[in-house]
Amino acid sequence: MRIIIVGNGIAGIFTAKNLRSLNKEVEIIIYAQEKYSYYSRIKLPELINEKLNIDDLIVFKDDWYKTNNIKTYLNKKIEKIDKENKKLFIEGESQPIAYDKLVLATGSVPNIPPIKNAIEMIGNGVFTLRNIDNALEIREFIKNNNVKKAIVIGGGLLGLELAKQIKDYELDTTVVEFFPRLLPRQLDLDCGGMLKEIIENLGIKVELNAVTEEILLDENKIIKGIKIKDGREIRANIILIQAGIKPTIELANKAKLNTNRGIIVNEFLETSQKDIYAVGDCIEYENHIWGIIPACIDQSKIVGSSILGKKSIKYKGTIPKNTLKIIGIDLTSIGVFDPEDKDLIGAGWEILKNIDEKSNCYKKIILKDNKLKGAILFGEKNAVAYVNKNIEKKIEDNRELRKAINLYEWICQMCGNTYDDAKIDILFRNLPKDWKCVCGAPKDKYKNKNLD
Ligand SMILES: Cc1cc2nc3c(=O)[nH]c(=O)nc-3n(C[C@H](O)[C@H](O)[C@H](O)COP(=O)(O)OP(=O)(O)OC[C@H]3O[C@@H](n4cnc5c(N)ncnc54)[C@H](O)[C@@H]3O)c2cc1C
Repeated sequence: MRIIIVGNGIAGIFTAKNLRSLNKEVEIIIYAQEKYSYYSRIKLPELINEKLNIDDLIVFKDDWYKTNNIKTYLNKKIEKIDKENKKLFIEGESQPIAYDKLVLATGSVPNIPPIKNAIEMIGNGVFTLRNIDNALEIREFIKNNNVKKAIVIGGGLLGLELAKQIKDYELDTTVVEFFPRLLPRQLDLDCGGMLKEIIENLGIKVELNAVTEEILLDENKIIKGIKIKDGREIRANIILIQAGIKPTIELANKAKLNTNRGIIVNEFLETSQKDIYAVGDCIEYENHIWGIIPACIDQSKIVGSSILGKKSIKYKGTIPKNTLKIIGIDLTSIGVFDPEDKDLIGAGWEILKNIDEKSNCYKKIILKDNKLKGAILFGEKNAVAYVNKNIEKKIEDNRELRKAINLYEWICQMCGNTYDDAKIDILFRNLPKDWKCVCGAPKDKYKNKNLD
């Protein structure tokens, strides 16, 4: 059986890896439009500022492909699928290639919001960052044009990580975010406010509620900054857009597979066409597009079995898990992070919060009917392992949970009154020494109920 995978990003490569571990015989071939072996996109910002070079990004070296008997053809774009005859056409080549099973792992491209002059100026002062070539182009532009001021449009994870690396390259950097908070898809308003302060302390400027309307050009058509809808103007010589992704679905569309925003798949990662599967950033499953590595890894395991006819595991979606990768900032957001948004409090939802503004610490746990649904953990690492281990599980005994986020219930040994850190704004340990219980008992008559 010949299995062809289109795309050598993490979804394509992990599909090949999982297929090979399940079956030593099948023929596995990967076609990849980019000219580089599989590399991690996470560290692309560090290629711009020369902290890393291309080799540092490559994950599997040549011998991995040999050992696993996986053939890879780089710099080959698949142009067309002939689904009736199960053949593929490579751009610039006349001879089609036959497949028995086909996996589309075509990934995604950066989304460019409707900003005047943005598309026209791409590569000429306006850039997006998705691949190695983009990073090299950005670096060249900065060097050749003596760039001193940068704007990053998009205050999501990628925007902030990019801004930090650009700032480290000694560029005066401003992050411009459409929403009223940074990381709008990972944080609530309070935690977003704390993060903004920390980002500004790194020397990065932040503009919120900022809908970029236009890239401003001078009389020689050279970038001079941006104009925000409310009239603000910010000067810069380079504009980097990190404003979400768009799944790459052209190949699927040409073959008339079912698509919407992404390539539509079922729980076995099958597309609407028999023997064609899809994985990674390019897919849409139950109206959802993930765009994160954990989803690619989950899906690649299922598609491997599915192709080989073992339909024992079904894809059920991936719980979003994001960590901000900026040294010195510990921030993880997992699953549901803001049920207030959904007006669901009281319908079984419970929120436990431990906020310490002095030490920039924000721990928020979200439960629904005692099941751990999500968390924001900012300024601390200890609870991350607990949340990862227990996400989507029923918390039968909440002592471990309370300990993980340092949020306790205290009981008065004189009258039995309970003081719950989660329900009152001031933590019990921060109450003044002369604080007294309703029964008149002093503070030291209270005992920690959760540590017994
Ligand atoms: C700068 C940056 C930082 C990131 N950091 C994180 C992070 O910290 N955590 C996280 O979870 N995610 C992160 N992501 C997102 C993560 O990288 C993606 O979710 C992941 O790369 C998706 O993998 P994929 O294999 O589906 O697609 P891709 O990595 O996009 O790979 C798809 C490949 O298919 C190729 N292709 C497309 N069409 C064709 C065709 N017709 N013929 C041949 N080849 C084709 C493309 O050229 C591409 O190389 C980051 C992304 C970027 C850009």
